[in-house]
Amino acid sequence: MDERIEIIEGDITRVVVDAIVNAANSTLLGGGGVDGAIHRAAGPDLLDECRGLHGCATGEAKMTRGYKLPAGHVIHTVGPIWSGGARNEDELLANCYRSCLRLAAERGIKTVAFPAISTGAYRFPLQRAVRIALRETKAFLSEHPAIEKVVFVCFDQDTLQAYRSLSAGEVSP
Ligand code: ADP
Repeated sequence: MDERIEIIEGDITRVVVDAIVNAANSTLLGGGGVDGAIHRAAGPDLLDECRGLHGCATGEAKMTRGYKLPAGHVIHTVGPIWSGGARNEDELLANCYRSCLRLAAERGIKTVAFPAISTGAYRFPLQRAVRIALRETKAFLSEHPAIEKVVFVCFDQDTLQAYRSLSAGEVSP
């Protein structure tokens, strides 16, 4: 696997990187899960900036400052809500990873941390989501040497196990 990819267990609001990714909803006005945790840790100025963004479409991404977070920026993306797999969920989730990484590269961000987008309240099957996250990130990194590190921050053991086993499943050259 690309040595710029790291898999850790933890709370993304404590990770020190140039940008953390928020699995937001389309209003960008806060919610539960990782979104709630990021807004609580960043403080109310984050919500003020988000109000000016006028929402975000599924699969797209928008960036704000990080305020009280140790991370300098937050890249807000909106994952698909799982509804069986026939509603373009795979492609929309892939778009989230691509949009976040593209925005990071455009803005000169060198280190990025992701939560497992859509695998909580949005109920995307975990293994399927992790495969997409790893595939898209590897593909992007192979074409963007300026990105120095991508961290997958796993909030629970199941997520950690999924990232570990699927990233190790690859045969080294
Ligand atoms: P979604 O609505 O996109 O499914 P959730 O926030 O419900 O978003 O869940 C996405 C993932 O983020 C889940 O794996 C959840 O356990 C995880 N998560 C929740 N809080 C945190 C946190 N503070 N840091 C990292 N991951 C978190």
